[in-house]
Order: sequence, then structure tokens, then C-alpha cells
Amino acid sequence: MSTIEKKPLDWSKLGFAYTKTDKSYVCNYKNGAWEEGGLTSEHSINLSECAGILHYCQEVFEGLKAYETKDGHIVTFRPDLNATRMMNSAHALQMPEFPKEKFLEAIDAVVKANASYVPPHDSGASLYIRPFMFATGNVIGVKPADEYQFRILTTPVGPYFSGGIKPLKLCVSDYDRAAPRGTGNIKAGLNYAMSLHAYMKAHKNGFDENLFLDPATRTFVEETGGANFLFVTQDNEIVTPMSDSILPSITRRSLVDVAERYLGLKVTCRRITLAELGDFKECGLCGTAAVIAPVAKVVNGNHEIIFDDCQTQMGPVLKQLYDTLVGIQHGTIEAPEGWIRRIL
Ligand SMILES: *Cc1c(COP(=O)(O)O)cnc(C)c1O
Repeated sequence: MSTIEKKPLDWSKLGFAYTKTDKSYVCNYKNGAWEEGGLTSEHSINLSECAGILHYCQEVFEGLKAYETKDGHIVTFRPDLNATRMMNSAHALQMPEFPKEKFLEAIDAVVKANASYVPPHDSGASLYIRPFMFATGNVIGVKPADEYQFRILTTPVGPYFSGGIKPLKLCVSDYDRAAPRGTGNIKAGLNYAMSLHAYMKAHKNGFDENLFLDPATRTFVEETGGANFLFVTQDNEIVTPMSDSILPSITRRSLVDVAERYLGLKVTCRRITLAELGDFKECGLCGTAAVIAPVAKVVNGNHEIIFDDCQTQMGPVLKQLYDTLVGIQHGTIEAPEGWIRRIL
């Protein structure tokens, strides 16, 4: 039970933005090994102008949340999966892996140190946790750096939909998010850098997000810039795209488990063509930020694909999935073994 006094923040006014908290976690990699690492009150970084991150973009990151449960504990949701995913991302960019146990202990320490910033249970807000790692060593000829920094910042954030749920409008992007056999399946800043132009263009045209197609054939649905898709068929089955260039969302993998184990729904992970999207009655985006965000329509040039059950709110099947997972995260529904890590 946490008896920590909360900061005097207006939790209901928080958006998804950076608010400095008391402590960050920092750990440096030098001479082939990670140092001890620990908490810091210094929230700025002093870097060499020749640091590898600034030239060849060696950077990977993660995102998860700490919540206050109904009975007053502070918990994180499946942080072990963030640890392993970050190790995979680092490996793909020729960076040292940050050890899993050290990662979990670092998350615990930084959340504990900022416990007064974890929003109250009933606020809908949470403490967002952003682990990231980047090349600090000097690099001028193209090669991996020999020094790195792993850091975790935390920041309190509001609910994804603050003024009530508003189904999203997507457009099929003219651009590709990731190359076949490229970096689409790792969580790296570089995948976002090159999606920003497409993102701003979609916004300018009145859309919330881009739907990206498979870059090789532009036939199959992949994901948006930062969330995976779930679809509901006319028979209340769940279908989710399969592709090597989709980022393996922890929320999506958890929702698939919830669908099968808690709700007895059939789930299929397969290639999904753009042409068949009109057959589905619900469409949702899943990720840590919103858990599920309903999609009202996908626009492809002058063709509109409408998801009938997601026009004004989340469709009933997605809503059931959402309520169950959020209940698990907030401690009102019993969680599968190992899903909830209690910090306080
Ligand atoms: C982080 C991310 C997601 C969502 O993953 P979660 O683990 O559920 O938060 C989906 N797509 C991309 C491209 C991402 O970077």
C-alpha cells in the first residue's frame, strides 16, 4: 500500500506531454561493460558533438506505464516484455543489450523515486516510463559506437482520450513505414523520424493517423506509425495482421491472450489485405498509450472503408477486450501469472 503524498498536480489536465519528475535513471556503457548505474536529478544530457547518436542514429527506446491500483499499490504491466524487446532492438542496431534484471530493477527504482507523480487510481492518468539507449561514443567513420547511455525518464500523462472516446479517421499512406527485411520490427527512433513527414501530411488532410501497407507489394495491412491493428469479423472473431515488419506490440499480444483466455474468442494472426478491410465490423489500434483506440474509417484515395460498429464509440467486442485488459492492469480483474509487477 502506498502512503506517498501526491504532488499537487491537476491530474485531469494532463495531456501526453513532458512534465519533469524528481529523478531519472542513468547507466553508461564503457570499455565493453555496463557501469553500476543509478538515479539522477540531472535531466539534461551533455554529449560530444561527435556522439554516434547524432550522426548515424543508434537509438532504441521503450514505453510503458506505472499505475496506482484500486487498493493503492503502484504497479507496472509486463515490464519483462519491454526488457526483452529492447534487447532485441539493441541487437538489431549493433548496440549492447541492457540486461533484463538490471532493466527491471531500474524501472522499479525510478518509479519508486517518483511515486508522488503516479496519478491517483480514479484519475485515468498514469506515469509514463520511457527507457531509451543511445550512442554517446565518438563516431565519424561509419561504425557502431563503443560507448552508450541507457536512461529512463518518467512523466505523468493524462488519459489518451480526455474528452471522451472519439473514433479515429485514418488514411492509407503513400509512404512506407519500414522496408522489407528492415527495422520495422524494432522500436527505434529512426522508424519514427522517417514517419513524421507522412504523419504531418495525414494531419494536414484531416486524418488522425496513417495506415501503412506492406512495402513490398502494397497489398497487405501493416500498422500505423505507432500502434498495431485488431479487427473484429462479422462472427465476432478477432483478426490481427501478421508481418515481419510490424512492431510486436505488448498491448496487442496481451489483448490476444485476453480474447482467447478470458473471453473465449477465436483469434487469428494472418496476412490481411486492404481489399478485405470492408468485411470487418470493428477496427481498433492498440498500444500502451490508449490500450485500444477505435477506428471509424480508413480512407484510400476516394474510397472509404467504414467500420459500422465503431462510428461513435468502441465497438462491443473491442470494448469487452478493453475493459478486461484495463481491469487486469488496474487490479480489479485477476491477472495471469507474472503480468503485474508490484513496485509499492
Ligand atoms: C511501441 C509501438 C507500438 C505499440 O507497442 P506497445 O508495446 O503495445 O506499446 C506499436 N507500433 C509501433 C511502431 C511502436 O513503436
